[in-house]
Amino acid sequence: MYPLSKKIKIGKQATVEKDHFSNDEIIPSATVQFTCCDCNHKNVVEIFPYESGFPIIQMHREERVLSKSQLLDNKIVAETSEGRRHFGDLTVKDLPTLYFGTDCQNCYSKYFCVFSYGEWQPGLTLLLVSGVWKYEELE
Ligand SMILES: [Zn+2]
Repeated sequence: MYPLSKKIKIGKQATVEKDHFSNDEIIPSATVQFTCCDCNHKNVVEIFPYESGFPIIQMHREERVLSKSQLLDNKIVAETSEGRRHFGDLTVKDLPTLYFGTDCQNCYSKYFCVFSYGEWQPGLTLLLVSGVWKYEELE
């Protein structure tokens, strides 16, 4: 897991085994499996709440990695609802949203994953994976 710092081009979306985790499924971590678009290897990534990932704003601030419209047009995130803007302008289902870069463990193709994590309502904590996309650095 690593942060991205250069502009990227978004590629194919990988198939994710399970993208919705709740309560006990997130303790101590959510296990996300995605299939590499190039070699079909099943990659496993462990997302640990409050440890894994980097705030999504680091991607679109000053369009450092991707612009807001690229994130919206590819349905990676959505505009946050009015009352939840403290979580940022762009989120996955109005919850605090993070991302990370990761490579296919077999062929080293580059991917990024976007997910959100938080309390959806009292007693229900969710971790939602928006998706895993292949990317290429533009520089
Ligand atoms: Zn691969």
